[in-house]
Amino acid sequence: MAAYDFTDHSYDVVVVGAGGAGLRATLGMAERGLKTACISKVFPTRSHTVAAQGGIAASLKNMGPDDWQWHMYDTIKGSDWLGDMDAMEYLAREAPASVLELEHYGVPFSRTEAGKIYQRPFGGHTTEFGEGPPVQRTCAAADRTGHAILHTLYGQALKENAEFFIEYFATDLIMSDDGACTGIIAWKLDDGTFHRFSAKTVVLATGGYGRAYFSCTSAHTCTGDGNGMVARAGLPLQDMEFVQFHPTGIYGAGCLITEGARGEGGYLTNSEGERFMERYAPTYKDLASRDVVSRCMTMEIREGRGVGPEKDHIFLHLNHLPQEQLALRLPGISESARIFAGVDLTREPIPVLPTVHYNMGGIPTNYWGEVLSPTADDPDRVVPGLMACGEAACASVHGANRLGSNSLTDLVVFGRAAAIRAAAVIDPDAPNPTLNMRACDEAMDRFDRLRHAKGAVPTATLRLNLQKAMQEDAAVFRTSKSLKEGCARVSKVDAAFDDVGVTDRSLIWNSDLMETLELSNLLPSALATVFSAEARKESRGAHAHEDFPDRDDENWRVHSLAWIEGDVKLDYRPVKVQPLTPENEGGIPLARIAPKARVY
Ligand SMILES: Cc1cc2nc3c(=O)[nH]c(=O)nc-3n(C[C@H](O)[C@H](O)[C@H](O)COP(=O)(O)OP(=O)(O)OC[C@H]3O[C@@H](n4cnc5c(N)ncnc54)[C@H](O)[C@@H]3O)c2cc1C
Repeated sequence: MAAYDFTDHSYDVVVVGAGGAGLRATLGMAERGLKTACISKVFPTRSHTVAAQGGIAASLKNMGPDDWQWHMYDTIKGSDWLGDMDAMEYLAREAPASVLELEHYGVPFSRTEAGKIYQRPFGGHTTEFGEGPPVQRTCAAADRTGHAILHTLYGQALKENAEFFIEYFATDLIMSDDGACTGIIAWKLDDGTFHRFSAKTVVLATGGYGRAYFSCTSAHTCTGDGNGMVARAGLPLQDMEFVQFHPTGIYGAGCLITEGARGEGGYLTNSEGERFMERYAPTYKDLASRDVVSRCMTMEIREGRGVGPEKDHIFLHLNHLPQEQLALRLPGISESARIFAGVDLTREPIPVLPTVHYNMGGIPTNYWGEVLSPTADDPDRVVPGLMACGEAACASVHGANRLGSNSLTDLVVFGRAAAIRAAAVIDPDAPNPTLNMRACDEAMDRFDRLRHAKGAVPTATLRLNLQKAMQEDAAVFRTSKSLKEGCARVSKVDAAFDDVGVTDRSLIWNSDLMETLELSNLLPSALATVFSAEARKESRGAHAHEDFPDRDDENWRVHSLAWIEGDVKLDYRPVKVQPLTPENEGGIPLARIAPKARVY
């Protein structure tokens, strides 16, 4: 057995992750008097949320008529009827209060002439239950909304005396023998010490796993660490086949140009200079939902109408917009276009391509953020002591496809919900659970094995093989053949991980070892993605299966669950079709939310 010394810590709540979700949960827990620690592998304000540009959706009605029920309807339609109605109602209903709360915490939102929070149009956000014109619902701080939110939440959490453990890498959950979560193990990256946190509740807010793909908009730190920890604890991941491609990643570099660019009036053209989205989505055009726009771009390229020498990308035009509007509303992307595409967007179009952007799937939770471990008898069974929120979680509000600007809403609404729930169930005076030493030993044995791994294949080679397989075989369009190949290729990389070689054995700033641990988290996330995708014989939202082009509500309006223990085991759980508020008590009319064809 590996011998490592620990420093022990004891908290009511330990939040893993200091992005928007982790910080909002941490702040809420601390405000409610819970002794709260927040662990992050990077400095909090370097979390990927800092890169969120476009904004946060809430029906504030600052720019015209809006209604939380319209927002709920758009979210349901965006999800292609796979989201859970209770969670989607909670998101849309609580969004306005959650954004006003952010304003009061000090987020420097852009303003209207009247001094209200500025809101812009975004894809898939409409009025009148999808029958009216686009709505201006996305609240923005220029094109640096995530940056503004993250800095504000960090300051507020410090003010509430939440304790931060920065540049600590959480390796594994400490589960009791009867399946409760009792704490977490972390490795302090700058001095090589180990830390054992006991907690009445652990909250996983570790973000997405975009780095399972070769070209993605997300940070190098987005490696699905929470997903990996959950999979190793024998718990399932949900709806992992649904991976969002953002229509406008910069060609080659992969960096994002926000959908807010199209919200401000930008549009896409093909090699014939045609605004092709008018042909595919006559009503909402370039502001159709992301999965729709990404597929249309891919079809244009496939049919030979791509731009550039290789005819392999598309142009995004902003050059017709007034310079003052670009400077005021989109200063950040003007800079990105210049640096990463060498383009002056006031004069020329930006070369763009659909790029992996968001994971709809993740750790299954209810709308309070409690993690679920469904069984045949109880699809809503809660794992004691474990919560999740943010992109790591699947509540499920985004179903098969997330609407732009609904993720930041998800972070603050469900980060806050987790805090409300934790304060209701945790007794600060009760003793902490005793830690399961066998679980701690197993986690350290795994760590030690990787630290001393003497195999033939470097981590970077395995990771590249994984990323190439995912990019080629689990792409915008999928076929039975590509998905079968994807399962085989990802399984092969997973098997080859037994032969990984780590060159640095030290414990201080050992990035080789850290990246190996991260790869051990990317792998279960990727396995769950390709196997769930291969099994789903329909097309829905971001899962566009060419051999099964139609949505099949009768057989497939279900959440996929994947357990990764050696091999991949799949099962399904029903979608929640009842909203929280009954129709006769002011809830959304049920006739409005029955599944129908999804046209924009
Ligand atoms: C470029 C870009 C632009 C976007 N723009 C928008 C937008 O305008 N509107 C919108 O709604 N959405 C947007 N999104 C999506 C949205 O920003 C993300 O989904 C969201 O920020 C994720 O937040 P999070 O709190 O779940 O995770 P993150 O912000 O990714 O934070 C994860 C946290 O977990 C910590 N962590 C992870 N693993 C470990 C570990 N092993 N140990 C310790 N700590 C760990 C990290 O240190 C970090 O603090 C955008 C995404 C990208 C990539």
